[in-house]
Amino acid sequence: MTTAFLQEIFSSVQGEGIYLGVRQIFVRFQRCNLACNYCDTNEATGELSEKFRVETVPGSGIFQWFNNPVTPRQLMDVVGKMAAEKHHSISLTGGEPLLYKDFLLEFLNLFRGTCQIFLETNGTRWEDLKELISMIDIISMDFKLPSATGLSLWDCHEKFLKIAKEKEVYVKLVVSAETKKHEVDRAVKLIQRIDHTVPLILQPVTPVNKAKAISPRDVISLQDHCSLSLKDVRVIPQMHKTFELL
Ligand code: SF4
Repeated sequence: MTTAFLQEIFSSVQGEGIYLGVRQIFVRFQRCNLACNYCDTNEATGELSEKFRVETVPGSGIFQWFNNPVTPRQLMDVVGKMAAEKHHSISLTGGEPLLYKDFLLEFLNLFRGTCQIFLETNGTRWEDLKELISMIDIISMDFKLPSATGLSLWDCHEKFLKIAKEKEVYVKLVVSAETKKHEVDRAVKLIQRIDHTVPLILQPVTPVNKAKAISPRDVISLQDHCSLSLKDVRVIPQMHKTFELL
């Protein structure tokens, strides 16, 4: 039987990207395959935690703790009840949810038809996406730049975006003072090669850990530059850092 380590389950509003403000059920998975310099999720890279928390009444901010790991059926029992309240979609987020591909295959079979499936991912695990794509509705895919990860992930991102294009997808690029123009150019060219209408979101970094903020003027200038090649380039900061519900 497949199981997963969760961090938390709660109901809130989406705080990033083009679905900013829609009401979602968030299922946050522990663990990630990357270690970005701006990561604000300790559970992504640290030790696995034996407990996860669940909001008792959607939107109340009151939580109860449970033991990890969980089965797909146990997750379904929790989020199935939450989905009865009005939600735009369920957001599978992390960490990196695609680390739990086998778990998700089982869970999404159970959850199918309840509400839309929204995947928030670092856009690297394309083999896993390939197996799950038919069950996902919307994909919020990050491009992780070498200046943030120390890695060159372009090939993975390209393969991932080609598969994600079967469904609704947008690309998010976190930009900081360390972001290099040639990296942004490479990201833009990659999207342009696949489909220049895929929205690109420039998300100014929230300065945590080693990440340094980018000036608003520099972000606007990047937007102008990217808009020469792509149809829809938006600047959208993280909302939940200024609007803390939890
Ligand atoms: S991909 Fe996301 S969760 Fe993983 S290390 Fe980077 S910012 Fe953190």
